[in-house]
Amino acid sequence: MNMSTQETDGSPISTDVRTTENARADRPDETVVATRGLDVYYNDDQALDDIDIEIPENKVTALIGPSGCGKSTFLRCINRMNDQIDAAHVEGEVVFKGKNVYDDDVDPVALRRKIGQVFQKPNPFPKSIRDNVTYGLEVQGKDTSDEDVERALRGAALWDEVKDQLDESGLDLSGGQQQRLCIARAIAPDPEVILMDEPTSALDPVAASKIEDLIDELVEEYTVIIVTHNMQQAARISDKTAVFLTGGELVEFDDTAAIFENPSDSRVEDYITGKFG
Ligand code: ADP
Repeated sequence: MNMSTQETDGSPISTDVRTTENARADRPDETVVATRGLDVYYNDDQALDDIDIEIPENKVTALIGPSGCGKSTFLRCINRMNDQIDAAHVEGEVVFKGKNVYDDDVDPVALRRKIGQVFQKPNPFPKSIRDNVTYGLEVQGKDTSDEDVERALRGAALWDEVKDQLDESGLDLSGGQQQRLCIARAIAPDPEVILMDEPTSALDPVAASKIEDLIDELVEEYTVIIVTHNMQQAARISDKTAVFLTGGELVEFDDTAAIFENPSDSRVEDYITGKFG
């Protein structure tokens, strides 16, 4: 399936949208993360306005929209990373598997093991490859085994490239390998959800393509929620797309094919065809 969108230079390009032959498309949607009336403020400035969404399990949900519309803020609400920003103030509910993550009895550190995060710039610790992977388990006081390390590195499609250098620094890897190491670190504690904030935008196209292929595999086991400024990427890799627009409003949330081929909201059509950004 194709639709024509425009690159920023105005030239028409073709956007491949995930095809419905994909087995995942036939799975019924089971909500894993839902928000209800979610508002976020930085001091007095509102960044998200009354967001209601139900994100399905074992699918890829892409968050798209112009810069500053609240995509990263939304992502950070899901595993309470906004707690670390003094100016941030959250109202409403973020429900993960039936429990509001903002309830007083939720431990944000434990929550972040269940809802891991991968950032734009690969950020391995200045430690060995092995120690990067085992870090999340050791802070829980868990013993780690060689099998745990292998499983996480295989899960991140990195094992074959690093199996003979596990004691070398993670910082000596290429950018794309470092990002896959960060994904291995996120999956080692066996999370349910992986949040990714523009995980390929600092990588070259080959490394980015490997991460896209990896996301396709990860979603067999995990739920992936990804912020991307790249609409072609959203169309290629996601099952669902949420479009945020200026003012922190969630304007449309639907199957990716519907968003890119037949959006209901004219502002979404204008955005994805490049009429404004
Ligand atoms: P996006 O990810 O869509 O680019 P963000 O979530 O980063 O949007 O930002 C949404 C709004 O919140 C913007 O107006 C931004 O300036 C503001 N904002 C984001 N982070 C902070 C922060 N740490 N302190 C104050 N304002 C912030």
